[in-house]
Amino acid sequence: MANAPVQRMSQLMAKTLRDDPADAEVLSHKLLVRAGYVRRTAAGIWSWLPLGKKVLTNVERIVREEMDAIGAQEVMLPALLPKEPYDATGRWDEYGPELFRLQDRKGGDYLLGPTHEEIFTLLVKDQASSYKDLPVILYQIQSKYRDEARPRAGILRGREFLMKDSYSFDTADEGLAESYALHRQAYQRIFERLGLDYRICAATAGAMGGSKSEEFLAPAEAGEDTFADCPNCDFAANTEAITYQLKPADPAGLPAAEDIPTPDTPTIETLAASLGVPASATLKNLLVKVDGEIVAVGVPGDREVDIDKVEAHFAPAVVEMVTEADFAARPDLVRGYVGPQGLGDKVKYLADPRVAPGTAWITGANKAHTHAKNVVAGRDFEVDAYVDVVVVQEGDPCPNCGTGLRLDRAIEIGHIFQLGRKYTDALKLDVLGQNGKPVRVTMGSYGVGVSRAVAALAEQHADDKGLVWPAEVAPADVHVVAAGKALQTELALDVSGRLAAAGVRVLVDDRAGVSPGVKFTDAELVGVPTILVAGRRSGEGVVELKDRRTGEREELPVDEAIARLT
Ligand code: ATP
Ligand code: MG
Ligand code: MG
Ligand code: MG
Repeated sequence: MANAPVQRMSQLMAKTLRDDPADAEVLSHKLLVRAGYVRRTAAGIWSWLPLGKKVLTNVERIVREEMDAIGAQEVMLPALLPKEPYDATGRWDEYGPELFRLQDRKGGDYLLGPTHEEIFTLLVKDQASSYKDLPVILYQIQSKYRDEARPRAGILRGREFLMKDSYSFDTADEGLAESYALHRQAYQRIFERLGLDYRICAATAGAMGGSKSEEFLAPAEAGEDTFADCPNCDFAANTEAITYQLKPADPAGLPAAEDIPTPDTPTIETLAASLGVPASATLKNLLVKVDGEIVAVGVPGDREVDIDKVEAHFAPAVVEMVTEADFAARPDLVRGYVGPQGLGDKVKYLADPRVAPGTAWITGANKAHTHAKNVVAGRDFEVDAYVDVVVVQEGDPCPNCGTGLRLDRAIEIGHIFQLGRKYTDALKLDVLGQNGKPVRVTMGSYGVGVSRAVAALAEQHADDKGLVWPAEVAPADVHVVAAGKALQTELALDVSGRLAAAGVRVLVDDRAGVSPGVKFTDAELVGVPTILVAGRRSGEGVVELKDRRTGEREELPVDEAIARLT
């Protein structure tokens, strides 16, 4: 086996800290800073010190190996990007304040890439001309930039962070499904090898034009997502994505408008009550189908919905701008609300056709604040469902089987998405098909939070003494502690050299003038899987081996200890 390097604590550019950093709220933030893995450079911007960089590189290596194994090709695209492609897809504006926008000296607009769908689409447009060039999966491992509103929790939510992003390009829907399945398997292998406990959770309602999306969520207190797990069936979903389908079978059977009290200030509770959904629910979207096709959902700004289609269908119904004043003048309409789950300033207007039959308003889509007025529910359109009920309570019914759901906090470590043709339409990516005619390419995009995975690992693999790294990601295999004076240091360095010669990655605490007690505390904080102590019995050639995870310890002669570890 190749010689591995010996890292000497006496030379390591990282100090351990006794106290938690003052601004640290979550465990991984406290431990990674205290153990000398990362340092804060600015809000949400982090520097990786030697041990941290080793763990990050290990995560990166595992991700790279598993991506290569599904035939994905690694590339590296710029992070500094021109505005135009993002204009073409609308994301220059839609991305909102999370996008880092900047100008060059000539006043040209640029951005720092938050995710790269546009740029990869253009790359494939430039390189691929025929169906024979596809399918292809491209990926990169690169810094991403998002001006997060609340960069908290250390590297869990950075404003600069490392992501593996990949993109699949196929000519047919079946091909996309296959590329998606390959990613799903690769991600399972990645997270298993990393030693992360995770669940695959549904991430969208599936009602948005057939696109499919799943998140890989790592259960942890520090997580900012909540997922629901059914103890009875295989249902698992981010609560953001849970959908209850309420299908009024017969619009005529709905209660008359005058039988339903119109609250002065409609709240989510009154809406929930009028719709008969769990009181803990947050209603978000009204889904409207015309001739079996979804034409509107109650998400302002959602580009899946074509308001022109709605207008054409309902003509001569009026489609016009709705203002605050309109709402003030129409007490019969149920007003929208701002959801509690990070919907930000996206005010949702929700019209319940039972409140005012004959005057249902349909929330606008690709035209801001545009709603179809004077359209009759049940006559002009089918009220297919109220979707997106955010479950906020333990025990709400599972949408599949009705069993009470369990809720847990989790960290989103990966996300896979069947995008379809949203980007290839906007950027007109075609290849020549088998029949010689152009085919619009269909696309998937897939992300792994590489730097976030390090924090997720720290959350899941720690105890009251510090970090406890799984072997494949640990910054070293063995942490050798010289617990004493010259004799112990000499033995520690000798053992380290022999282990390294056998290919074992060693971190040796050879610091002079540091007490054995401090070295033991630091070794437990740093979290390398095996601790080897050259202490009291060094003169007899006996060392102690300690398993960081179980705490089990054993004294044995040096040769045996080395044999055990190699
Ligand atoms: P979140 O919901 O946490 O904001 P996201 O859904 O916006 O994440 P995606 O666009 O799906 O993130 O990006 C792919 C992956 O990149 C995520 O699954 C996550 O692991 C990681 N990621 C996203 N934002 C950050 C961030 N600010 N810091 C670190 N990792 C991140
Ligand atoms: Mg985000
Ligand atoms: Mg998310
Ligand atoms: Mg996501």
